[in-house]
Amino acid sequence: MIQIPRGTQDILPKDSHKWQFIEERLHAIAKNYNYKEIRTPAFESTELFVRGVGGSTDIVNKEMYTFKDKGDRSLTLKPEGTAPVVRSYIENKMQHDVVQPTKVYYMDPMFRYERKQKGRYRQFVQFGIEAIGVEDPLIDVEVLSMLMHIYQSFGLKDLKLYINSIGDQDSRAAYNEALVDHFRPSITEFCTDCQVRIDTNPMRILDCKKDRDHELIRTAPRMYDYLNEESKAYFEEVKSNLDAIGIGYEIDYNLVRGLDYYTHTAFEVMSDAEGFGAITTLCGGGRYNGLLEMLDGPHETGIGFALSIERLLLALEAEGIEIPEPEGIDLYICALDEKATEKASHIVHTLRTKGISCDIDYKRRKLKAQMKDADRKGAAYTIVLGGEELSTGNVELKHMGSGESKTVHLDELHTLLEEK
Ligand code: ATP
Ligand code: MG
Repeated sequence: MIQIPRGTQDILPKDSHKWQFIEERLHAIAKNYNYKEIRTPAFESTELFVRGVGGSTDIVNKEMYTFKDKGDRSLTLKPEGTAPVVRSYIENKMQHDVVQPTKVYYMDPMFRYERKQKGRYRQFVQFGIEAIGVEDPLIDVEVLSMLMHIYQSFGLKDLKLYINSIGDQDSRAAYNEALVDHFRPSITEFCTDCQVRIDTNPMRILDCKKDRDHELIRTAPRMYDYLNEESKAYFEEVKSNLDAIGIGYEIDYNLVRGLDYYTHTAFEVMSDAEGFGAITTLCGGGRYNGLLEMLDGPHETGIGFALSIERLLLALEAEGIEIPEPEGIDLYICALDEKATEKASHIVHTLRTKGISCDIDYKRRKLKAQMKDADRKGAAYTIVLGGEELSTGNVELKHMGSGESKTVHLDELHTLLEEK
């Protein structure tokens, strides 16, 4: 038997309403904040991620689904959404669009070759936003407020927003030196990845999952102490405006994010809920000021975040929050014989074109089984069609909730249901 690829999942018909509920909510909130959807391809040139995400990241080093197409081009299934959005921004010259800044969102499957564990899939759906073309602490605050709004709108409470500033390029150069001095003498005590990171991207040692409990991580110099005046002022303005609109946060001086292109504001949302499992990060994001130029684009900056729906669902489950059951159909037509079944199939055809959701029993079961089927399908109303109904055209329209029924003509069915 052929099985589903490792690390992927089927969203079964009994569960898909949960996804639709979340997706609809996300589209609506994006609209609230005036972000427009952007859809980029499922695969891109490998080069985009190597340059845009960075060669020292786990994503590029270990996790990409890269393949050659028949024209010998190296392509990669997208592991994240920012680089593709920025590629599209540059290619479509969005810096010249009349509407500025560019505020976009995406909701797309992403692909990463990862070790399978709870909350970690090889294909997962990310909802993410990017605000490109403006560098202002207030837009950072907008992005953070939207993010928290999303989680809170589902009723989640056990959340923590962690923020940090990783400063601008200048601040980081000094900080990186301090980190190298701090870690170099004992680097052999760290994992092999960190032994490479000390030369390629020392800040990422702070982000290492294997070495997170090492004493030197706790005592490492803090980025905050290396921020220049500008970076400090930027961070202060983000914080004071979060305070002003009542968004709670904690500062995590070790929060650096895994990608190379971040500057200034970096953030993560974690779930505190018991039973969430080992991975508690719900969302990550930050400001990127060098990315566009790194991809040969204009001198513009951006900020964004990405969350996965899979982990949002886990958080809902951990907090015992249930997604409403989907609505059933408006009408189920039971039929007593062959002729009635045929007629029922014609009636549902007409009703459906009038916007009424309805169904019949194609398995041609007995009446009792049909009623059960109507119940399972959540029918608001049922009618039973037999010889008499077919000759007079009158049927008993039964409301399943109250058990009440009234006589109506088949031709009136659609108007009655519209009134419901
Ligand atoms: P992690 O530290 O968990 O590996 P990450 O730093 O790789 O996360 P990002 O690249 O920032 O994650 O992606 C943003 C969000 O996407 C994460 O916070 C998480 O909610 C989600 N995410 C990342 N990888 C996966 C995955 N393999 N399966 C499901 N969701 C994921
Ligand atoms: Mg990861």
